[in-house]
Amino acid sequence: MLLKYCCDTMKFFLEQKCEIHNNVFECPDAIIYYNKKFDEFGVIIHASEGEYILINYCPWCGRKLPDSKRELLLAELEKRGINEPFLHMLENREADESLGSGNSDKQ
Ligand SMILES: [Zn+2]
Ligand SMILES: [Zn+2]
Repeated sequence: MLLKYCCDTMKFFLEQKCEIHNNVFECPDAIIYYNKKFDEFGVIIHASEGEYILINYCPWCGRKLPDSKRELLLAELEKRGINEPFLHMLENREADESLGSGNSDKQ
């Protein structure tokens, strides 16, 4: 992960590994999710599987987080004629991989 953490608390939550849940969205201990595809941070909504609320500032240190590349990516996909359902698939796959050991990302 090329990500630079804004503070130790963020680092702690993003790097913590759960031995029970292999999907962060299933783990009640996981509260922050980093989507490397979109370069965005979110607070995990455990009531709604696979979803998170985008955050622009770190909840702990208050520093500005990187701007989400979601819009850019969406525009890019649209240009190539790829639609939303496919994007959703990407997101779900991303969630599954997020605790994996740095899977190769073909882009
Ligand atoms: Zn921070
Ligand atoms: Zn867990």
